[in-house]
Amino acid sequence: MSKNGSTSKTLSIDPSPLVQGYEVVIGFETHAQLLTNSKIFSRASTHFGANPNTQACAVDLALPGALPVMNKRAVECAIRLGLALGSHVAHRSIFARKNYFYPDLPKGYQISQFEIPVVQGGQVSFYMGTTLKSVRLVRAHLEEDAGKSLHEDFVGLSGIDLNRAGTPLLEIVTEPDMRSSQEAVAYAKELHKIVTWIQVCDGNMQEGSFRCDANVSVRKPGAALGTRREIKNLNSFKFMQQAIDYEVRWQIEQIEEGRAIEQATVLFDPESGETRSMRTKEDAADYRYFPDPDLPPLVIAPEWIEEIRGSMPELPRTMAERFVNTYGLPEYDATTLTQSQQMASYFEATVKDCGQPKLASNWIMGELSRKLNEENIQIDRCPVESHQLAEVISNIARGDISNNSGKVLLDILWSDPKASISALIESKGLRQVNDSGALEKLIDEVLAANVENVAQFKAGKEKAFNALIGQAMKASKGQANPQQLTELLKKKLA
Ligand code: ADP
Ligand code: MG
Repeated sequence: MSKNGSTSKTLSIDPSPLVQGYEVVIGFETHAQLLTNSKIFSRASTHFGANPNTQACAVDLALPGALPVMNKRAVECAIRLGLALGSHVAHRSIFARKNYFYPDLPKGYQISQFEIPVVQGGQVSFYMGTTLKSVRLVRAHLEEDAGKSLHEDFVGLSGIDLNRAGTPLLEIVTEPDMRSSQEAVAYAKELHKIVTWIQVCDGNMQEGSFRCDANVSVRKPGAALGTRREIKNLNSFKFMQQAIDYEVRWQIEQIEEGRAIEQATVLFDPESGETRSMRTKEDAADYRYFPDPDLPPLVIAPEWIEEIRGSMPELPRTMAERFVNTYGLPEYDATTLTQSQQMASYFEATVKDCGQPKLASNWIMGELSRKLNEENIQIDRCPVESHQLAEVISNIARGDISNNSGKVLLDILWSDPKASISALIESKGLRQVNDSGALEKLIDEVLAANVENVAQFKAGKEKAFNALIGQAMKASKGQANPQQLTELLKKKLA
C-alpha cells in the first residue's frame, strides 16, 4: 500500500536512546480538522464557538431519509496533504461505517475510510539536532468528527453538543517509527507546520483542530514489538512530552514488577501528570466496519491531482534546503526561519533589500524574535517592516553604525515605525567613526593620558589593553568602530 515520495534523504540509522534498558516505540494517529466552511457530508456550518446544537443538521444526525453528499473542498485538502507528504493519492477510495455507540455519537456510527483510504504511504521528515529523521506514514483517511460531551461539574450535569458532528477530519496514521518522546514531539510539530503551511488545517490545538493520539510501547532492544497503550487527545506539545514520558516510566515499572501490559486507551491528566486507563482497547473487528451504502466510491481524476499539484506552495523542508544552498545559511537558521511562511517571506524580503543573508538571519532570529515574543505577536504584525530592518542591517554591514546602535534603532522604530533611519543616525549620534586618521589621533591622546596602563601592558598585563580600549571608546562617545580601534591600538603598542 505504501509508496514513498519525493524526499531524497535516507532514514536515520542512529541507535535509539534507551530508557532503563528499554527501547521506546511510538506511533501517532493525528486528527486534523479540515479548513472547510461546511461539514464533510452536509451544508451545516463548521464555524467554531456557536451556541450548542445550532449547527448540526439532519444529515449530521443521520435522520432517516437524509443523504450525505461529499464536500469537494475536504477532498482537495486530503489531496494537498498527500502531495505534501509524498504519498500516493488513491484514484478510488471507499467510505465505511465504523459502528459504535457513545453519547456524543447518537447516530451509532461514524463515516470513515477503512480498507481503502484516500492517502496512502508517504513520510514526514525533520531534523533532530543534525540528523534527518523520517517517520513513515501508513495512511491518511477522511472521516467525520463526532459531537462533544460537556461536563458542567459545578451543577453535576453533562450535556451533548452536536455542533462538531460531521466536521471533516483527516486522520493521519504513522508507522511505529518514533523512538523517544522528543522525537514524537518533533514529529507532531513538523506535521502541524505542514498542515497549516498548506492551509488544510488552522492548527488551533486549544480548539481541538489538531489532536494527537500517541501509541506507546516499550521493549528490550531486538525483541518483538511490545503491547501498546494509546494516549488520547493530546492537545499541547508540552502535555504530549509529559504524557509519553510518564507512560514509558509506568510501562517499564509494570514489566519490571512482572506484570503484563494490557492493550488500552488512556487519558492524560495534566493536573496529576499521570495517564489513566479509559477503556481496554477495542480491535477493528469490534467496530463491524462495512462500506457505507449511502456513499459511492470517492473517485479522483488524475487531472484534478495535477491541477492541485500546480497550486501547491513551496514546502518548509524544500524551502529550508534552498536557504542553505542559495544563502549559505546553517541548517539551524534555515529550519528556524521556515517555522512559518510569514517568517520565511519576511527573511527573503529583508535579504532582497540588504543582500546580507546571515546578518538578516541573525537579526530576525535574535533581536526581532525576542521583541515579537515579548509582545506575543507574530511576525506578520511586526511594526518594523522588512525594508527598514534591511536598511539597519546595511548600515551595520557598511560599518556606518555598530551592532548596538542597530538595536537602538530597532527600539525606536518599534514604537515609531515612520521614523527615518538616516535622520535618526545623525540626530542620535549613532554614526561610527571609521576614519583611521581621526581614530589614530584619539588613540594617541588616550595613550598619553594613560601611561600607567601602557606600562602595564608592556609588562605583559593583557587586561591593561582592554582598559585602553575602554578609554578610547569613551573618548569617542561610543562611536569608534571597535574592530578598527582594536587593530590600530595593537599596531601602536607593538
Ligand atoms: P488502531 O487503528 O486500532 O488504533 P493500528 O494498528 O492502525 O490500530 O495502529 C494505530 C497506531 O499504533 C499506528 O500509529 C501504529 O504505528 C501504532 N502502533 C502499532 N503497534 C504499536 C506498538 N507495538 N507500539 C507502539 N505503537 C504501535
Ligand atoms: Mg487508534
